[in-house]
Amino acid sequence: MTYKKDTTLVHAGRRKAYTGNLVNPMVARASTIVFDSIAAQQNAEQHRNEYVDSYGRRGTTTSYAFKEAMCELEGAAACYLYPCGTAAITSCLLVFASAGDHILVVDSVYQPTRFFCDGTLSRMGVEVEYYDPLIGENISSLIRHNTRLIFLESPGSLTMEVQDIPAIVKAAQQHEVITMIDNTYASPLNLRPLDFGIDISIHSATKYLNGHSDIMLGVASANEQHATQLIDGSYELGHCASPDDVYTTLRGLRTLSVRMRHQAEAALDIAQWLERHELVDHVRHPALASCPGSTEFLRDYQGNSSLFSFVLNADSQNALAAMIDNMEHFALGYSWGGYESLILANRHFEDKRTTVPWQAAGPVIRVSIGLEDVDDLKQDLSLGLQRYKENL
Ligand SMILES: *Cc1c(COP(=O)(O)O)cnc(C)c1O
Repeated sequence: MTYKKDTTLVHAGRRKAYTGNLVNPMVARASTIVFDSIAAQQNAEQHRNEYVDSYGRRGTTTSYAFKEAMCELEGAAACYLYPCGTAAITSCLLVFASAGDHILVVDSVYQPTRFFCDGTLSRMGVEVEYYDPLIGENISSLIRHNTRLIFLESPGSLTMEVQDIPAIVKAAQQHEVITMIDNTYASPLNLRPLDFGIDISIHSATKYLNGHSDIMLGVASANEQHATQLIDGSYELGHCASPDDVYTTLRGLRTLSVRMRHQAEAALDIAQWLERHELVDHVRHPALASCPGSTEFLRDYQGNSSLFSFVLNADSQNALAAMIDNMEHFALGYSWGGYESLILANRHFEDKRTTVPWQAAGPVIRVSIGLEDVDDLKQDLSLGLQRYKENL
């Protein structure tokens, strides 16, 4: 039986085998898991990619519960857990790309993904080419005989360009190229990439899924065709996740929908309000027309999330410090998707964009809108922008 998403978020992963008579699964910590018999050990070996106890690295009931929930939410055949989102991304790339392959990676990709592509992957003989996030169906022209995979991230988590996912998937499928997407922005609530024909969907569960800025976790979900390679390859790399972090994320998942709805509504409200500010050149919120790819966003996504950026129309490091150093509610920090508001500013993109150089009169300010009152957040931003202006 399939449920609507809100119900799935409550039900998923709560099989009696994982919970006993408790509401939630237990935190099962383990390295060794002992077998009742030789036959039980053999059975575990034969079903090593299923939820059968064998060894701590393969997971415990806590991770089976979370994986089951993620597969249901993503519509996936299988998923694998990693100690953080970056490990999920690098592992998927390592597991599917080989020496001599050419891969296409979106130019607006999360910077640590780029570090890995330019570092380890290149050193291992994989040729990496960055494509314009707005390329759409023209991606066909970049596909070569040895193109192995396309790595998407949409919207790009800093400048927020939205990609034409169906057009890219169509071109990839015509050439038998694997597609992977960093789906952290949308969470499974706002985009189910596998429904669009994407082969592998990756999340930094550190962000919305956990939602409380207190753990790190990554998850990759695959369709039937790529499930075994994903699991076997990731297991070979030795990845596993802490049962405590998995439990915390499973707990976060229960409230994902209410958090997301509230934060998304507040984010859109604040983004529209910022559009009218004299210092704001334009707002990069994927649901607003000023964001490249907003048409595709409104077509493909179920909704927006709490993350967006805005570009200022004047540049000054001093003004930026005057603004950001004195914020009341927006803390300066990496990451996003937690219950608390965050802010981050970027003035230099030379090493972040190589195919489509970034041009703007002022810095890009990215905010993650938390669960605080919207009026308090607007006031904080308003006073911050006033300080910016006074220090230009
Ligand atoms: C944070 C982030 C990651 C990496 O996740 P970690 O859990 O911090 O390693 C990957 N992709 C995007 C878009 C992110 O924002």
